[in-house]
Amino acid sequence: MNKLIELKGITKAFGGQVVLKGIDLDIYENEFVTLLGPSGCGKTTTLRIIGGFEKPSSGEVLFNGVSVADLPPHKRPTNTVFQRYALFPHLDVFENVAFGLRLKKEYQKMPKGEREALIQEKVTKYLQMVGLVGYENRSVNKMSGGQQQRVAIARALINEPQVLLLDEPLAALDLKLRQEMQYELKQIQLNAGITFIFVTHDQEEALTMSDKIVVMNEGEILQVGTPEDIYNEPSSRFVAGFIGESNIIEGIMKDDYLVSFDGKDYECVDYGFKKNEIVDVVLRPEDLDIVEPGQGFIDGVVDSIIFKGVHYEIDVKASDRIFTIHTIKYHAEGSNVSIVFDKEDVHVMEKW
Ligand code: ATP
Repeated sequence: MNKLIELKGITKAFGGQVVLKGIDLDIYENEFVTLLGPSGCGKTTTLRIIGGFEKPSSGEVLFNGVSVADLPPHKRPTNTVFQRYALFPHLDVFENVAFGLRLKKEYQKMPKGEREALIQEKVTKYLQMVGLVGYENRSVNKMSGGQQQRVAIARALINEPQVLLLDEPLAALDLKLRQEMQYELKQIQLNAGITFIFVTHDQEEALTMSDKIVVMNEGEILQVGTPEDIYNEPSSRFVAGFIGESNIIEGIMKDDYLVSFDGKDYECVDYGFKKNEIVDVVLRPEDLDIVEPGQGFIDGVVDSIIFKGVHYEIDVKASDRIFTIHTIKYHAEGSNVSIVFDKEDVHVMEKW
């Protein structure tokens, strides 16, 4: 894969407030990259700097190895889809999507018949991509939020950008529609064959769609990786907590492959830490199992049990802390149990 965009040492301050503290990031052709982090961490500002809507205070943005510092947004190979889809209410679906083409000089110069045939062909191609063929003459005001967002995506794609920037485009949709659109967006990206840079604070959205997740907090990148990397090997307590529910416990790395917490030693698969280094240990709820009392590593009492649709979420009160466990087996509140896990499921992280 070819490197398409490079962010090098990007900082940004508004007034005296530093909101980006030195962002370095490579983005490749055809990647679905998600900037993920809590509100105010600088995701949108990063996206706006890539799109050219905001200038960095220092650092450089390169497209195909060339600085774009002097290129305004409309000269960059990017197009943007915003959370509120800013469609033209007086135009129908067809004309909303065709809008960008009609502005182009090369289209304006064509003979009318040729121009209209080409526009028809392109609008149909992109309406097909977003699943809206047959809606050409519909007024955009008479469409659902999800349909309007699809029109906005088709309208952005028709200009054939190399990169589509998407700023929380699903945030205004209800949960079910959002989940459907997550799947569809990924399909659209694959079909369009271009890079998508997607901003969200929703970890599920990031895990579902991305080839690469960039976890940000307070103007910095904390971790870059595939969804599996980020979920299974979070680099810090913050990432582990942000990306999913977790049991996060302070421990001591006694030796390679041996970590101790709550006064007991456990085998793990991590190595390369200093002897007796203080670390954070992550145990995912779905990696823990419940067995008969005395049969596991940690004994405790079921403190609460909630049915979550597919699994139960059980809190087990042990002597040092409460562990959250996801399991499909029922265990009554107040019953004595014991917790087990595999050494592969003990994730050890450097303490930050
Ligand atoms: P959200 O999801 O809430 O939009 P975000 O991670 O996208 O959060 P940004 O929108 O990039 O965060 O904002 C980062 C910080 O920069 C915030 O504290 C915000 O108030 C500030 N900020 C953003 N744009 C401006 C601006 N034009 N002028 C002043 N401050 C700004």
